[in-house]
Amino acid sequence: MAVQSMVIVRIRDSEGREGIGEGTTIGGLAYGAESPESIKTNIDSYITPLLKGKGTDNPQVVMQDIHRAIRGNSIAKSAIETALLDLLGKTLNVPLSTLLGGALHSHIPCLWVLASGDTQRDIDEAKTMIATGRHNTFKLKIGNRSVQDDVAHVAAIKSALGNEISIRVDVNQAWTESDANLGMALLQEAGVDIVEQPTSAGQLDSLVRLADKYRIGVMADESISNINDCFELAKRGFSGSVALKIAKAGGPVQALKVATVCQAAGIDLYGGTLLEGSIGTAAAIHAWSTLPELQADSEMFGPLLQRDDIVTAPLNYHNFGVDVPEGPGLGLTLDEDKLKEYARSY
Ligand code: MG
Repeated sequence: MAVQSMVIVRIRDSEGREGIGEGTTIGGLAYGAESPESIKTNIDSYITPLLKGKGTDNPQVVMQDIHRAIRGNSIAKSAIETALLDLLGKTLNVPLSTLLGGALHSHIPCLWVLASGDTQRDIDEAKTMIATGRHNTFKLKIGNRSVQDDVAHVAAIKSALGNEISIRVDVNQAWTESDANLGMALLQEAGVDIVEQPTSAGQLDSLVRLADKYRIGVMADESISNINDCFELAKRGFSGSVALKIAKAGGPVQALKVATVCQAAGIDLYGGTLLEGSIGTAAAIHAWSTLPELQADSEMFGPLLQRDDIVTAPLNYHNFGVDVPEGPGLGLTLDEDKLKEYARSY
């Protein structure tokens, strides 16, 4: 990743206190319908007028007005919900996780994506990560090459790293169901643990069939954004896992509602990222910390992809995971100089 555009939201109350939030997506419009530019424009034009003059002591009332007036735009809504919660946390002097019911964990596991595409380079990178205590679970993005070539690459990495190390793949919807039948059979044989979004987002039944057919886990990512999608997948008898993302759901509160549907249906949970920086990542980490278990792990590594940060104290990655930040709200402080340095000029 050479460049990442983050929309940073700042909500100020009449006392001068400020809450911050982040709306970030991957590769312009490559991931979904919102771009950094649309997030900013829609917040400025449509959401800000709904916020002005409102009280900040009840984020749910404010978000209800926003949800009623504005369809879609879940990334923009996530940035706003995060900033409202951060502001309330700072006002009440409690961490954001406390506003979500309370943290059950102070440390969240964090896997790493091996993305060079070069088998030996990926193996070397993984071994360094394991040796330094940074990550011991790895995900590979596949789907660009033939099923056989992709599986050969993944199987070689799995065999070099051994049984102790969990390997999973993210196909990002690239396979047809017949590709998936071949790929999953081969990946299962290679000892891979999870296949994320093997087939197209809209094909919920295909995810159900694949999860039934193979011992290897199936994870729904692009298929599931909100409680309605999740309920539909659960109703069809899905037995895999779901990647929770605050950006897909429309904020930490909304993402935890998706988690509740999963918990009721016996679907495993995964803490997902849209490669947010520290602010969005911290918001998600606070939310995941309130869940009893992330059975399918978590991938909150967005800040590790950046060479620099716009917060004064970055998140603390160690012992194969990341600490839930302490302090009121998100537990982060904006670095005004860095923010100015990296801001786009309009
Ligand atoms: Mg994915």
